[in-house]
Order: sequence, then structure tokens, then C-alpha cells
Amino acid sequence: MGLQALQPRVALANLRTAALPPKVADPFYTSPAWIALRDRVRREAGGRCQVAGCGRVERGMIVDHIVELKDGGAPLDRSNARLMCRAHHNQKTVTERAKRTARRPGGP
Ligand SMILES: [Zn+2]
Repeated sequence: MGLQALQPRVALANLRTAALPPKVADPFYTSPAWIALRDRVRREAGGRCQVAGCGRVERGMIVDHIVELKDGGAPLDRSNARLMCRAHHNQKTVTERAKRTARRPGGP
């Protein structure tokens, strides 16, 4: 295995430990309304990551709120939802968290 094969995996592992909050069962994500929207988004996306230039297909894809709920995004608006691969979703989670931290009065 060369470095090229190793590096993305390492980066992803770091991202994963740094990025993901503990899984908390949020009742929203088990609601029939969300599940219906989620399935619709998956279907309309053809199972492909909707980040421009990606198009990845994998297991465990995530239907993402473009404007996150924490930031006041509409939870059940079709136009605020898109399908993302795990790598892109993790990347977005980190980016959004950094932005929130920067905005918070008093800082981190
Ligand atoms: Zn992607």
C-alpha cells in the first residue's frame, strides 16, 4: 500500500473523531414527516451525492439540511435537503461547527 492509498483514510479517520457528536436520538429524525422527505430526496437524487462534482454512491449516505436546523434551516422543506456522501457530510459538519464557534459571543 502506497502513501496515496493511506492518506485519505487517515484524513477521514481524523475528521471522524474530531467531527461527529455522540449519536443522540433526536425525535425529529424518526418522525414520519422526516422519513418521507428523506426517502423522497434519496429517490430524486438517484442515490448519488449531490455535492457538485461528487456523485458518489455508497452505503450510509446522509440526507443533509443545507441550512442546518441549528442555524434556523427549515426542517421539512424539500429545497433545504440534499443527499450527501459521508465524506462530504462530515466535511460540512466540521465547517458549520467552526462557523458557529466563530460567531458565538465570547468565542470557544
Ligand atoms: Zn460527496
